[in-house]
Amino acid sequence: MPYFYHTLSELTRRVSGSVLWRNLLLFLLWLAVWMLGLLVEYTEHASVWFPAAGLTFAALFIGGVRVMPVLVAACVCITYWAGHYYQLNLSFWQLTQAGLLFAIAHILPYYVGARLLRHIALGTVFNLPLFVISFLVIAALAALLATALVICALVISGMLPLAEVSRTWLPFWVGDMAGVIVIAPLFASLLSALYPAPKFVLDNVLGPQQRIASNQFKYKLLLNISLLSLAMLLAWYADTPESAFAIFFLVIPHMWIASTEAPFYNAVSVALSSFVIALLVNLLALMDYVMVYQFAINVIAANALFALAVPSLTAANQQLKLVASTDSLTQVASREHLQQRASLEISRSLEQHQALCLMVFDIDHFKQINDKYGHSKGDEVLQQACLAAQQMLRPTDVIGRYGGDEFVVILPHTEQDVVVAIGQRIIERLKHITLDEQLTVSASFGVAALKADDNFRSLFERADTALYRAKQQGRSQVAWH
Ligand code: GH3
Ligand code: MG
Repeated sequence: MPYFYHTLSELTRRVSGSVLWRNLLLFLLWLAVWMLGLLVEYTEHASVWFPAAGLTFAALFIGGVRVMPVLVAACVCITYWAGHYYQLNLSFWQLTQAGLLFAIAHILPYYVGARLLRHIALGTVFNLPLFVISFLVIAALAALLATALVICALVISGMLPLAEVSRTWLPFWVGDMAGVIVIAPLFASLLSALYPAPKFVLDNVLGPQQRIASNQFKYKLLLNISLLSLAMLLAWYADTPESAFAIFFLVIPHMWIASTEAPFYNAVSVALSSFVIALLVNLLALMDYVMVYQFAINVIAANALFALAVPSLTAANQQLKLVASTDSLTQVASREHLQQRASLEISRSLEQHQALCLMVFDIDHFKQINDKYGHSKGDEVLQQACLAAQQMLRPTDVIGRYGGDEFVVILPHTEQDVVVAIGQRIIERLKHITLDEQLTVSASFGVAALKADDNFRSLFERADTALYRAKQQGRSQVAWH
C-alpha cells in the first residue's frame, strides 16, 4: 500500500513530459470517471454522485486554463455518446451544439471556483482550516451554479424535458457537490504530478508525509467497507427511512482514518466508500432513500476533510496559549498566568496543610541602568536576572514577571528560611552578570510564608511590604515578613 501512490506517480511522471500524452491521459481519465458516474446512475441523468465534476475541479485547480481544451473535448465527446446511450434523436450538428453548451455550463463554474481556491491557497500565509472550509463552500456553490447552467443547457438542447427540472435539480446538485468534495482532493493529488505548477506544490500544503500509508491502512479500509455494507444491508432488509439514516454513523470510522492516516489515503478511503455507497444504492435498489445516501456521502467527506485541519487548529491553539502565558521578553510566566498558577498552588497547599512561600524581587536602580546604558541593555539585564533566578529554582517553582522590573516566585512545599537562603544565592549569582564593565546588577527580595486564610493578593502584599523594607535597608538583600 505505501507504494501505491509511487507506482501511480511514476506512471504520471513518465507521461507528464509530453503535452500530448498527458492531455490524452486526462481526456481518457475524464471519460472513464464519467462512465463511473453512469455506473451508479439510479435514474436517467441522475447519479448518486457525479465524479466527473470532481475531476474537472481538480484539473482546473492544478492545471488552470491549459486543461480547458481537453475538458471541452471530453464534454463534447461524452455528449455524442450520451445521444446514442439515451437514444435521443438528435443530428450530429445538434449534438455538437449540445456538447459545447454542456462544456461551457460544466467547466465555467468549476473554473471560477478553482481559481478562487488557488487564490486562497497562494495567500501570504497558508491556513489549512481556512483552505478546507473555503474548499467546501466553493465546492457547494460551484456545483450549484454548474447544476443550474447544465440543466439550462440540457433543456435548451432538448435532452431534458422542462417538466423534469423541478424533480432533477436537487439530486443533480447534491450529486455534483459529492463528486467535487469526494473526488477532487484525490485527483488534485494525482494530477499535481501530471501538471507540475511551480507556484503551487500540494506537498507544501499537506507535507511530504501525505504519501505514506500505515501498514494497517488496508484493514481499516476493509473494516470501513464492511460496516458500510452492513448498514446498507440493514436498510435494505428493514426498508424504512430510519434504517437508511444509520449510514451517518460511518462518519466515525472515517474520522478515525482521517486522523490516523496521511491525507492522500484519507482521500482514497473517502472516494472508495462513496463509490461503494453509490454502487450499493443501485444493487440493493435503495433508490427511495437516495437523498439520504447522497447527503451522507457529502457529510462523511466534509468531515474527513475537516479532520485534516484539526491538528493545525490544535497547534494554533497551543501556540496562542503559549503566547498568552509567557512574557515575551524574559520567557518567564506572564502576570495573568502567574496569578492563575499561584492561586492553584495556594489552594492546593492550604488543602494539604503544606508550606508555601511567595518571593518577590525587584532590580535595584533599574531606571539608572536604562538611563546610563540604554533600554536594550536594560532588557538584557532583565533576561539575565531571570536566568540567574531560574538556575536557583526547582521545576515545581513558578517564576513570573509581575510588571516592569518586578518578578514573583511561588515556591510550594518550602519553608521561609529555605526561601530566604535561595534569595541570597540569587543575589550572589546576579553579581556575576557581566554585560558591561561598569554595570553591576543587584536586586532586593521580599519573602512571605502562606497563612491559613491567605489568598494570592494577601500573600503578595506581605511579600511586597518586606521587599519595600529590603529597599529601605540598603537594597541587594532579602527581607521577610
Ligand atoms: P529601585 O531600586 O527602587 O527599584 O529603583 P528603580 O530605578 O529600579 O525603580 P523602579 O523599579 O520603579 O523602576 C522600574 C523601571 O523599569 C522603570 C521603567 O522605565 C523600567 N522598565 C519597565 N519595563 C521595562 C522593560 O521592559 N525594559 C526596560 N529596559 N525597562 C523597563
Ligand atoms: Mg527597580
